[in-house]
Amino acid sequence: MPEPDFRSRRRAVLLGLAGGALASAARASHIDTRHLFADAKPLLVQATPLPVVATFSILGDMTRQIGGEHIRLTTIVGPGVDAHSFEPAPQDIKALEGAKVLILNGIGFEGWLPRVIKASGFDGMQVLASRTASLRHLNETEQQRSDPGHKHKDADIDPHAWQDLRNGMIYAQNIADGLSQADPAHRAYYQNRVKSYIAQMKKLDTEIRSGFAEIPESRRKVISSHDAFGYFADAYGIKFIPVVGLSNDAEPSAREVAAIIKQVKKEKVSGVFVESTASPKIVHQIARETGAKIGGTLYSDALARPDEPASTYLGMFSWNAGRLIYVLKAGD
Ligand SMILES: [Zn+2]
Repeated sequence: MPEPDFRSRRRAVLLGLAGGALASAARASHIDTRHLFADAKPLLVQATPLPVVATFSILGDMTRQIGGEHIRLTTIVGPGVDAHSFEPAPQDIKALEGAKVLILNGIGFEGWLPRVIKASGFDGMQVLASRTASLRHLNETEQQRSDPGHKHKDADIDPHAWQDLRNGMIYAQNIADGLSQADPAHRAYYQNRVKSYIAQMKKLDTEIRSGFAEIPESRRKVISSHDAFGYFADAYGIKFIPVVGLSNDAEPSAREVAAIIKQVKKEKVSGVFVESTASPKIVHQIARETGAKIGGTLYSDALARPDEPASTYLGMFSWNAGRLIYVLKAGD
C-alpha cells in the first residue's frame, strides 16, 4: 500500500522532525526509516504511468512487453488493421497530444505519421525502433512490382525490418532505452524486462533455424501474395515467389490463374500463402492443379486480434515459421 505509507513519510518530512527523534518514533511504530529522507518524487512518478504511443500493433506489443505496468500505452494502427490504407482519426491525434514518448518504425512505413505529429503538436521523445537495425534494399523486381494494396513511402529500403528476429532484438533494446530515458526511475525495470524478452527472441530464433535446417534449401519455396517477407526470406533462406492477382478482393482473370499455375509447377513450389481476402475457390484450384499445399495466412504488418496465436510479436513469428515449416515438410 504505497499511498498511506507515502503520506506518513511526507508528513514527517514536512514537520521537520529531527532524524533521531523520527527514527525512534519510526521504531516505535515499525516504520522503515531507510528511505525516509529520500526525494518523494519517484513515488509520485510511480503513481502515474508513462503515457506512450506506438504507431502499429507489432511495436505496440513489444512496448507493452517491456513497459509493463509502468506505461500507459496507446497503439494507433491496431491488430488486424491494414497499415497501408490506414487513415488517422481525431482520436489518434488526441492520443499523441497527451503522450510523452512515441515509438515508431520509420523507414517510410508510417507515411501518415508526420501529419499526426503536426496536428497534435507532439513534442515528446521519438524512439526510432529500427535505429541500427540491419536494413535491406528492395531489389529491382520488388521495386517494379505493382501491388496496389502494399505501398510504403520509402522507395528503395524495405521497411518490414521486424520480420527478422535479430532486428526484433534491436527494436526491443531501442524501445527499452527510450523508456528508460523518459522514465529513469524505472530504468532497472525496463532493462530487466527487455533482457528476458530478448532471451525469448534468441530461443525462438534458434528453434526456427533448426526447424528450417531440416528442409533442403532448394525446397524452401512458397508462393506469397504479400510483399513483406524479404527480411524473413533472407534470415531463414526461404524463397517467397510473388504472384499478381491474389493480394486483394479483385478476382484474378482465368489467364492470370493459368500463369500462376504454370509458375508454381515450374518453380516446384511447395506451398501457397495468400491473404485471407483472396478467393478461396481460386486458391483451391491452384493447389489442386499443382499439388502445392495451402498454407493459410502469414502475418506481416499487423498482429492478429487478441486471443489468436499471432496476437503478439513472438506469437506471430512462431505462427509464420510454424506454417511454413509444416507446408514445406508436407511437400517433401
Ligand atoms: Zn507493408
